[in-house]
Amino acid sequence: MPYRYLRLRQRCLPLLNQIDFPRPFSAHALCRTIASQRGRQIHLHPLPPEASSTGACGVLLATATADHIFYESQTSHVHQEHIVLHELGHLLFNHHRVDARYTAVMGDLLPDLSDSLVTRLLGRTNYTTRQEQEAETLASLIRTSADRANRYQPRSVTGKLGAALGIETSEDE
Ligand SMILES: [Zn+2]
Repeated sequence: MPYRYLRLRQRCLPLLNQIDFPRPFSAHALCRTIASQRGRQIHLHPLPPEASSTGACGVLLATATADHIFYESQTSHVHQEHIVLHELGHLLFNHHRVDARYTAVMGDLLPDLSDSLVTRLLGRTNYTTRQEQEAETLASLIRTSADRANRYQPRSVTGKLGAALGIETSEDE
């Protein structure tokens, strides 16, 4: 494993350890969990076509009162989930940047937001910067951890074992 990736993982692990994984897991459920932990609402919106045309597939926008995650909806469910997790990664890392490329577009789309209210606006366009790599790595680690947790979810073990062996079990007895 390249050293640089190890360093990235090390920066992600403390954040990963603080995550209370919802069951069943979904990116939307995780947003709700994190929002209640932070005491700040996270609103999810499909990315408007006007913003997609700038090349972004996800945008994180924060105002004084709430966080907004925009995700490309014209793509697979798995990809949509990954985009949301990536933007959540920026949120958990507390990345701050106001990307001028998006302020005009998003400002037009959300007329109730004035530029002065936007404290954070990140568009997902490339993976070259440190912040993009951190968000991307954290998103992948969240997904891996969630998959692992789901796999070991205890649910009617005798029933599953019975099904695997081709015998009927009566769990109500
Ligand atoms: Zn990003």
